[in-house]
Amino acid sequence: MNHDLQVLFDPAQIATRVRQMGAEIQGWYDPGEAIMVVGVLKGSFVFMADLVRALDGPINCEFLGVSSYVGTHSSGAVQITQDLRADIADKHVLIVEDIVDTGLTLDYLRRTLMARNPASLRVVALLDKPSRRKIEVEVDLVGFTIEDLFVVGFGLDLDQRYRNLPYVAVLQQG
Ligand code: 5GP
Repeated sequence: MNHDLQVLFDPAQIATRVRQMGAEIQGWYDPGEAIMVVGVLKGSFVFMADLVRALDGPINCEFLGVSSYVGTHSSGAVQITQDLRADIADKHVLIVEDIVDTGLTLDYLRRTLMARNPASLRVVALLDKPSRRKIEVEVDLVGFTIEDLFVVGFGLDLDQRYRNLPYVAVLQQG
């Protein structure tokens, strides 16, 4: 099936915002303090690749796999499909999410990772859909706040498609 894609954020807008986010994140940490950047697979990998290049302190990159979506609907049950390999105790952990929707994934991740005693735990997300929240969850920094729209591109997929689009688009089924 082909879909109608309407660009919401183009590559230049995203690049500008990611640079601003990098500068803001850097300000959270002492100079030279190592950050353990934890990307939530799969959707965050494109954003994370750009975001880490907007940070200039020492960083480690780690990944965690979760799944809660089938098609365009959240099933509600969050599952870890790939756990972290690294110990996060006493580390400054920065969770990188593609999008916060119901908040269920992030709430689960925050609770799971906090139980492992990091020195700090912060969350950044490229996109946020606050009108869809089912649970209140703290996000430290958001790239763009959007309406209740299903978006693809820049890492976000529809059944594994469209992750490679260099922009964020609204998908209309046609
Ligand atoms: P939540 O647990 O907050 O409902 O959902 C988080 C996950 O659902 C995101 O990390 C993302 O993978 C997926 N998701 C939520 N909204 C969208 C959307 O508009 N487009 C795509 N492609 N995935 C979404």
